[in-house]
Amino acid sequence: MEVSETWDVATAMREASRCLQCGCTERYDCQVRQYATKYQVTFDAEMRPMRRVPVDENHPILVRDPGKCILCGLCLKACREMEGSAALTYYEVNGTLTIGPVDQRPLDKTSCVSCGHCVTVCPTGALTLKPTLPNVYRALNNTSLIVAAQIAPAVRAAFAQYYGLTGEEAMGRLCAGLKQMGFAYVFDTCWAADLTIMEEGTELLSRLAKGENLPQFTSCCPAWINYCEKMAPDLLPLLSSCKSPQQMFGSVMKQYFAKQLGVKPDRLYFVSIMPCNAKKYESRRPEFCHDGVPDVDAVLTTNEVIRMFREKGIDPLTLKPQELDLPFGNVSGAGIIFGASGGVSEAALRLAAERITGKRLDKVEYTQVRGLKGIKEATIELDGITVRLAVVSGLQNAQQLIDRIRAGDAPYHFIEVMACPGGCINGSGNPAPQLSTDREERLEVLYRMDAAAQIKKSQDNPAVQAIYSEWLGEPMGEVSHHALHTTYGRRSMRVDQPIEELIQTQPVVDLGVCVSTNCYLKGSWRVMEELAEELRQRGLTDRFRVRARFCANNCANGPSVTIGRHKVMHVDPDNVKAFVEEYILPALEKESTPVKG
Ligand code: SF4
Ligand code: SF4
Ligand code: SF4
Repeated sequence: MEVSETWDVATAMREASRCLQCGCTERYDCQVRQYATKYQVTFDAEMRPMRRVPVDENHPILVRDPGKCILCGLCLKACREMEGSAALTYYEVNGTLTIGPVDQRPLDKTSCVSCGHCVTVCPTGALTLKPTLPNVYRALNNTSLIVAAQIAPAVRAAFAQYYGLTGEEAMGRLCAGLKQMGFAYVFDTCWAADLTIMEEGTELLSRLAKGENLPQFTSCCPAWINYCEKMAPDLLPLLSSCKSPQQMFGSVMKQYFAKQLGVKPDRLYFVSIMPCNAKKYESRRPEFCHDGVPDVDAVLTTNEVIRMFREKGIDPLTLKPQELDLPFGNVSGAGIIFGASGGVSEAALRLAAERITGKRLDKVEYTQVRGLKGIKEATIELDGITVRLAVVSGLQNAQQLIDRIRAGDAPYHFIEVMACPGGCINGSGNPAPQLSTDREERLEVLYRMDAAAQIKKSQDNPAVQAIYSEWLGEPMGEVSHHALHTTYGRRSMRVDQPIEELIQTQPVVDLGVCVSTNCYLKGSWRVMEELAEELRQRGLTDRFRVRARFCANNCANGPSVTIGRHKVMHVDPDNVKAFVEEYILPALEKESTPVKG
């Protein structure tokens, strides 16, 4: 168990008193413990030894511990049916059914988009997130750092629902709780959403005028970006070049606000509070880190903030609400509705309508793009100019649209894609919806806040206007181009792991012995037999399978054995032990996983 250096004695004792059998971090929400209590499960029967399977920590944000997997299939269902990715599958190893990444690849080398929904549904801790909280606690305790937070639009909807508050009350109490924990500034990501609309709306108008790179795809959702880079790289030129609101805010903090405070960027520790685990992945992308200083230092989910409040004994219901800090606490209704599928489109239309017609827009609601449907379409007439939009949530719906675009059957100008069904209100970092009506309720929180907002359009936000006059110049201008835009590229899914890493990340590794004529004549059948015996004697038959394979195309140097893509040549049939000692044992010795026999 890790004891964070920032826990107080009472918290550390509470942590120490919980079930420590599995080592996972779900102290409050252990579903296995809840089910065991509900169904009166006892531990009378002798427990089976844990399977000997290494923990896979190679994914940037997830940890997979197959030894804890009970094959319930919930992760697979969430991945395929909810997110629309197909990164996980069932497969059989030595007659035992297993769930893991397709083709037994490292998870990041599959279609995984890092949404984190598999973690939310996993009841046993076989899938968990890499911890972020200890870093944030350490930063809060470091007196040489100024710690600031941004709160994403959809967080208020889920937090309000969780505690039975209005959206406004949720924000006031979140702010008060964060301040009590030591955050010096609490800002609103809706401000950065307004900034995004200034850039993305201007980009759309420019593309419409030139008639190029259409349809323009939104780029706010990092899981969608991951999908595009891996599964649809031909569409990358159509993505908006805008950074997401999270990352735009990160740039503003490190390049502008740090200067205002008179500190170096690495002294300003910026924490995002998000409904989303893919945002953790996004914040670690190398393009969002300058001179070793990330624009966003840590991403906490709504669930993690709720957990922090519990650990610190903070009850949001008894807190006196506090106003968010200015200037970045000043937001428009357009920024708030970013948390719902259709919100980005509606916010962009509020800008485009005024820019195209040159008239003030008084009726700002575009209800055609609202709601939970997976694919929504709208055609808007603006002074003789027709703008066609599609709004998609869920990656299976995005794939349908991609197929239509490739077939030349998607006459849209603007396409919004959010990976989670219904948008960020349903992100995996928010508490899981309990009732079928929960998602509608979260939407209502956002649209009620929009209706009550004094400023409805991003372009009317005085704090956004101010940053253009003080620093950025104009939307899509030189300064904003460098600070607020980026490019994405094709992501290779080739597996070129070193042998050692391959062995440490794969539950079962195939050793392919070439049995083609040349290798056969040099004794490859004996290599197979000796290798199988060597593995049996060392108790490694559940980790390695000896397979016959056809020509490895290196006949002069046989017998050959392949491990993944690596070919080991000149394997001596009389000394197979040397092969095992050189290529297999060093990797196993470095495995940190405690293995129970
Ligand atoms: S993080 Fe998302 S895409 Fe990746 S395996 Fe889990 S559910 Fe699938
Ligand atoms: S949800 Fe967890 S326990 Fe269930 S199959 Fe997936 S990894 Fe295994
Ligand atoms: S829809 Fe929102 S919560 Fe879901 S992955 Fe995308 S940005 Fe994250």
